[in-house]
Amino acid sequence: MTGGLEGYDAVAEANAQKSVLAIHWSRICERLKAEVGEVEYRTWLRQITVGPVEEDEITLYLPTRFLRDWVRGQYGDRLGTLWNAEVPAIRRVELQVARPGAAPATPPTDGAEAPATLAAAREEAAPRPAAPAPVAEEPRHAEVRSDLAAPLDPRFTFDTFVVGKPNEFAYACARRVAERPSSPGFNPLFLYGGVGLGKTHLMHAIGAELLREGRVSVAYMSAEKFMYRFIAAIRSQSTMEFKEQLRSVDVLMIDDLQFLIGKDNTQEEFFHTFNALVDAGRQIVVSADKSPSDLSGLEDRLRTRLGCGMVADIHATTFELRISILEAKASASGVVVPAKVLEFLAHKITSNVRELEGALNRLIAHANLFGRPVTLEATQDVLHDILKAHDRRVTIEEIQRKVAEHWNIRLTDMSSARRARAVARPRQVAMYLAKQLTSRSLPEIGRKFGNRDHTTVMHAVTRVTELMEQDPAFAEDVELLRRMLES
Ligand code: ADP
Ligand code: MG
Repeated sequence: MTGGLEGYDAVAEANAQKSVLAIHWSRICERLKAEVGEVEYRTWLRQITVGPVEEDEITLYLPTRFLRDWVRGQYGDRLGTLWNAEVPAIRRVELQVARPGAAPATPPTDGAEAPATLAAAREEAAPRPAAPAPVAEEPRHAEVRSDLAAPLDPRFTFDTFVVGKPNEFAYACARRVAERPSSPGFNPLFLYGGVGLGKTHLMHAIGAELLREGRVSVAYMSAEKFMYRFIAAIRSQSTMEFKEQLRSVDVLMIDDLQFLIGKDNTQEEFFHTFNALVDAGRQIVVSADKSPSDLSGLEDRLRTRLGCGMVADIHATTFELRISILEAKASASGVVVPAKVLEFLAHKITSNVRELEGALNRLIAHANLFGRPVTLEATQDVLHDILKAHDRRVTIEEIQRKVAEHWNIRLTDMSSARRARAVARPRQVAMYLAKQLTSRSLPEIGRKFGNRDHTTVMHAVTRVTELMEQDPAFAEDVELLRRMLES
């Protein structure tokens, strides 16, 4: 029998006999008490209860999320080492909140709870990987440093990221860093762009890829969490440990750096960590909503260093990219979503991918729930509220500009008296679209087109409608313009 199997049997036995675990645990507690002192022990560690062992992992429970995070951050590694020393087959410690959903207890230090509750909802929802394997002498192996970082969302990989013009550069840089971290010129990698355009997705993808390749330790956390951890470390006078932990990772990723604006102490700490890591040849990946030079409120020296590696922006999505993303997500869901519906969504929801995804998910959930096919009508119905929020007002000026551009005529011809077909037809289309897309009355529209009479506008509407029925190519042109104006 191999050592590993013996170890496994020992675990199985221990699992069966809770009392055995209790004896181990009381020994561990004695050691912890001796190491950290009675007060620390009573404040943090006494509240731990021992849960089940599964394979090589033991679950420990804490009554609140705050305590759980704290204990994980401060004692995660140590608990792992001590358990491993007691029961060699136990190689990982999973810390969980005992009663999920229970109200968090009053934190022991005033105000210390606040940053914990600010942590991203996704972090809570995602499954927590266990604390890293404890044995210190072991060579470094691939791990998410869950003791100091948030877990990676398994859905956010390079495979599920849809590449298009607006994000291809950022994507290429992210891939490059995942393939060869710490290459000169790519360190730090600074990703920036608006909300919901895929920054976090790309960072998690880098992490997932590095872990798949093995042999690196990766820590990903939001800047907010970074600050929370830093403040907690100051409170417990363990900043040295915190710094050491941070500086022991191969790849440090800090998301939403703009959060550190105005938080001078945390910025300072980040700056030092940053320098120490880069000097030691480690990779840093940072995201923010603006470029380093536009992040006013960030210390100059930090801004400068952030801009020293590779700065890659993610632009707003284009219609084509939105369609590709929707196609990818729809086909992954297994629900048939007609192209017409995808186009409709891509036109209507242009602000960011998160909302687009949310709308599609709702449609898919609806289709699954009621077993009905997805149609354009159903879409308008199910997404009624979302679509309303995205309905934006189109102005007559915008319509005139777009139409003039489309047929390559001068904007002034929209209100000129010229009657040549080449200008009169586009003018009629613009009037038609103004009637369709705005709530202006016929006389109001007439006034905007060189003080024309409302009967002229009426005539234009009838004429364009007729032409669209007769001439599919013309109809397509007008439809295209309408969709462009609506998006
Ligand atoms: P950010 O961090 O920039 O605010 P996220 O990375 O959280 O945005 O992206 C928001 C959502 O949109 C996520 O669910 C993400 O998977 C999805 N998403 C964004 N861009 C893409 C893309 N190019 N391909 C696939 N999904 C994307
Ligand atoms: Mg993000």
